[in-house]
Amino acid sequence: MALVGRHVSIAGGLDLAYDRSVALDATAMQIFVTNPRGWSMSALSDEAVEAFRRKGRQTKIATIAHMPYLPNIASSNSESFKKSVASLIENMERCKRLDIGYLVTHMGSHMDQGKEKGLANVARAVREALDNVDDVSILLENEAGHKNSVGDRIEDLAAVADEVDGKRLGFCLDTCHLFASGYDIGKHEVLDEMFGKLDIKKVKAIHLNDAMKDLGSNLDRHANIGYGYIGNDRFRSFLKYGEIASKIVVLETPVDLEISEEDELTLAKSLFPK
Ligand SMILES: [Zn+2]
Ligand SMILES: [Zn+2]
Repeated sequence: MALVGRHVSIAGGLDLAYDRSVALDATAMQIFVTNPRGWSMSALSDEAVEAFRRKGRQTKIATIAHMPYLPNIASSNSESFKKSVASLIENMERCKRLDIGYLVTHMGSHMDQGKEKGLANVARAVREALDNVDDVSILLENEAGHKNSVGDRIEDLAAVADEVDGKRLGFCLDTCHLFASGYDIGKHEVLDEMFGKLDIKKVKAIHLNDAMKDLGSNLDRHANIGYGYIGNDRFRSFLKYGEIASKIVVLETPVDLEISEEDELTLAKSLFPK
């Protein structure tokens, strides 16, 4: 059975994310395990953890977490780097308590220091975090290619994979970001080239998002499935490639904009190979 769901809110309590996913008939989900727009982490009670784990066992939904937005693990500023690694470790510890095996993080911005430096910082951050917390894997997400970004080329992801050995480094591919950075994901020859550089087995999750702008725009603007420039034919072709359809697939699309959340998830499921 395909593992498909969407990013859902944790408003009112972490465990409510499972109720929201069940209501959507989802088999996968993504959540933030802390405030996505701040540095601070409110305490997580043992009761909240237990409630979350219980619903996880009951529903068997495949769950991944996403890092908050402020940390920048590509930073060459030692203070901001330290703070970012500390946040990565804290988020991993929280995932471990919650029984979440995968934490998605962006690779960040090199802030005019050059991509090579940025990539070295990312590798250092990942190594340090993996040394500090066991059981949880880090999934590096590809970027759309805004100025100074690290991770917009598949080569960037492969470079970190070369630097960090270990089973707990994986990748999350965002279709909107791939398309925005110029990868036509409907073409299998493009995918052949991508996965010639990055081991497809290391890709554990897919962010299935349509794009509000055309191929190569470098803009990170998610559209509802089928309502953007990627379109359903390209998604069908992408999902048919290799083992892509067996990954954890999560939508991060606008809520109830062009289509209801329920209908969008049904549509996304229908794009999988039969
Ligand atoms: Zn992301
Ligand atoms: Zn994403």
